[in-house]
Amino acid sequence: MTKYRDLYDNIIRASDRSVASMIVGQQIRQVSDGGGYMANPKRKWSKARTSRHRSAWKLGLPGLVECPQCHTKMLRHKVCKTCGYLDGKEIVKIEETA
Ligand SMILES: [Zn+2]
Repeated sequence: MTKYRDLYDNIIRASDRSVASMIVGQQIRQVSDGGGYMANPKRKWSKARTSRHRSAWKLGLPGLVECPQCHTKMLRHKVCKTCGYLDGKEIVKIEETA
């Protein structure tokens, strides 16, 4: 309590406002260093919020579907790389390498 009394005394003694605020800031810092009276949040973000934030950081799988022509996995809405077919039509001629 004596620390707070000193604080108030300093405020009353300081006639200029800016000086008063400077003194108060200094005093508060001293008080918080000494006794830990100042209320401070334990952490900026909660643990749950941190983990929720981190869980959203991941890669998604590309849209893979089975080709109806050659039954291999192919990218959705793209010409099949194995047979060159899309929508039952041959779009690209794939040369046989054997
Ligand atoms: Zn195919």
